[in-house]
Amino acid sequence: MAGASEPLRDAPAGRDRLWLMRPDGTEVSSRFRTAEGYDRPQMLLLSWFMRDIHDDDRAVWMEPRLFDILAGVQASMSAVHGSALPLVVTSGYRTPRHNAALENAARTSMHLYGYAADVQVRGYPPRAVALAASFFSEGGIGLYDTFTHLDVWQRRRWSSGRPDFVREPGTAGQ
Ligand SMILES: [Zn+2]
Repeated sequence: MAGASEPLRDAPAGRDRLWLMRPDGTEVSSRFRTAEGYDRPQMLLLSWFMRDIHDDDRAVWMEPRLFDILAGVQASMSAVHGSALPLVVTSGYRTPRHNAALENAARTSMHLYGYAADVQVRGYPPRAVALAASFFSEGGIGLYDTFTHLDVWQRRRWSSGRPDFVREPGTAGQ
C-alpha cells in the first residue's frame, strides 16, 4: 500500500508525520496529524501497515498516541542523523495466536491491543532508539538485542526482556 502523503525522504521529519518501513522494504509515508487532530484515513493507512503479517494480515485500529511517540523518535533521530530516517517496524499488531507462538512474548503483550511497536533504525543500536524514545514516551520502553519495544501503556523501562527499573509484574513484554 503506498503512502498518500508526500514522500518524506528529502523532507525534514516533523512530529506530524511518519515514514515507516517493514524489514522486507515495504514502506509507508503518512502525515497523520492536522490542525484538527488525527487524520482518520491516515490512521487507517498506518493501522493497516501495522497489521500482523504473520497471521493472515489481521489488523486492528492502532492507538494514535503510539504514532506520536514513533514520530517523535523519528524526528529527533533524523535531526541528529542529518536526513530523514525510516523506522523499521519488526512487529506491530500481533494476534493472540501469533503472540502465543512466540517464545519470549508476554501473554499480556501490548502488541495484542494495538498499543505497541518494535522498531529499528538502521545504523543505530536499539539503545539509541530507546534513549530518543525516553524523551517522548510516558509508556513502556523495552530494550532488546536487535530492536526497541515502544508502547503506550503504563510507564515501564526494561532491557533484554528483564525489568530494568519500574515494571508491574506480568504486564510488560516484547
Ligand atoms: Zn514489543
